[in-house]
Amino acid sequence: PVVVSLLNAYSGWAAAASGFVLSNDLLIVTGALVGASGTILSVIMCRAMNRSILNVVFGGFGAAPTGTAAAIEGEVRELRADDVAGALREAKSVVVVPGYGMAVARAQGAVAELTRALRARGATVRFAIHPVAGRLPGHMNVLLAEAGVPYDLVLEMEDINQDFPEVDVVLVIGANDIVNPGALDDPGSPIYGMPVLEVWRARLTVVLKRGMAAGYAGVDNPLFTREGTRMLFGDAKKSVDALVSGVKS
Ligand code: NDP
Repeated sequence: PVVVSLLNAYSGWAAAASGFVLSNDLLIVTGALVGASGTILSVIMCRAMNRSILNVVFGGFGAAPTGTAAAIEGEVRELRADDVAGALREAKSVVVVPGYGMAVARAQGAVAELTRALRARGATVRFAIHPVAGRLPGHMNVLLAEAGVPYDLVLEMEDINQDFPEVDVVLVIGANDIVNPGALDDPGSPIYGMPVLEVWRARLTVVLKRGMAAGYAGVDNPLFTREGTRMLFGDAKKSVDALVSGVKS
């Protein structure tokens, strides 16, 4: 995606250069807009992956095959929706981490309803947004805004990462790579070095997904077997609907 965005930017700069050759102001202005926005987007995505743009473009040439992440060890512990709803009813502070699976399941409306139900009970609900969550820059922000989640509840990664130890329940909804602790502590992992949301530091972390499939990067996620993690298997929309009824009951 970074290379695609960079090539887009080049098309803008090429158009602007043609504008100078043809003395066409409109071409210069539109070309510069496309070029500048594409360049800014590429830089933002590189920062989110903690890699330089040169490393992204040329890093693959002549490189050995990428490392393999350490095999996951430990037990995967599952909870039922009723139990998760029970934990949510007790929670004072809840953080929701949305990912690509929330978009696939179209669960954002149900997530907004769950947020309203929890806030009505007096809990603090916040959203933690990783810069590359989903499949487009700003993907999660757009979905949550459409669903009517208030903007002030939606925080960027660097504004919320240090708060996780104080959080009672984290709901990871269809996210995987952006919450992979291997990115921080497994040098063999292909995503090693990418900043991630440190959800495992919360008191309870519940991961909503359909099975044990890997995310976009194709890497196993040791979060699923961490001591404080529980899995709520199923389609994210159905699971969140069940949580809404459980919290309201
Ligand atoms: P991931 O792709 O890492 O994980 C998504 C998870 O959602 C999967 O593991 C899948 O597991 C689960 N899922 C899929 N469908 C459903 C469903 N219906 N209900 C519940 N769960 C579901 O997503 P993240 O958002 O964590 O990370 C984004 C990834 O995409 C990063 O690797 C990033 O680099 C990459 N990327 C981001 C771009 C951007 O601009 N934002 C652009 C291009 C790539 P299961 O099948 O088991 O349910």
